[in-house]
Amino acid sequence: MARYTDAVCRICRRENQKLFLKGDRCYTNKCAVDRRPAQPPGQHGKGRKKLSEYGLQLREKQKARRYYGVLESQFNKYFEMAASKKGITGENLLRILESRLDNVVYRLGMAMSRPEARQLIGHGHFTVNGIKVNIPSYLLKAGDVIALRENSRNMDKFKTVIEVNSSRVPPKWLDFDRDKVEAKVINLPDREDIDFPVEEHLIVEYYSK
Ligand code: SF4
Repeated sequence: MARYTDAVCRICRRENQKLFLKGDRCYTNKCAVDRRPAQPPGQHGKGRKKLSEYGLQLREKQKARRYYGVLESQFNKYFEMAASKKGITGENLLRILESRLDNVVYRLGMAMSRPEARQLIGHGHFTVNGIKVNIPSYLLKAGDVIALRENSRNMDKFKTVIEVNSSRVPPKWLDFDRDKVEAKVINLPDREDIDFPVEEHLIVEYYSK
């Protein structure tokens, strides 16, 4: 198990960015990025050369993909969707990623990490507009209401996670009612509402080759 923990943190160290993959550990001084910043993992991490233009674009794409926990093929599909929409492709892409149900459950503080949110959704703990949804990649739209199911509300797991995250402020595009443990998507986020430090234009350049 310890080896797996290290493997997950290696992903962050590879991107030199906190990707918040381990839940509460990410908010402590045990975080590998906080302890050893600016050094890729591995024996030869320090000696790596400066990245080429292509390398930078690839890394930015990988960083976003791993942050949101999306497989390569699905990320490619999201890019196609983003490119086919009106507006700025990079911003469209981030908006699509943010609108995934697993991301929203995490942003609301109903899970300690996106991987945990995926697991909880898969176990059927959430509804969208009153209907059980167990697909973490479900894309939400303005007006949708996400709720913790009635039977799940008394589970110690959720009582604890909601309590631990009670000081976390949900993004302004989500209207969260803590008492009812449900949230409404007011609108999908604008770029300035997304705090993930990514240069999405590099991702667009990566796919433009
Ligand atoms: Fe590990 Fe979390 Fe820190 Fe990433 S952010 S290195 S997953 S503790």
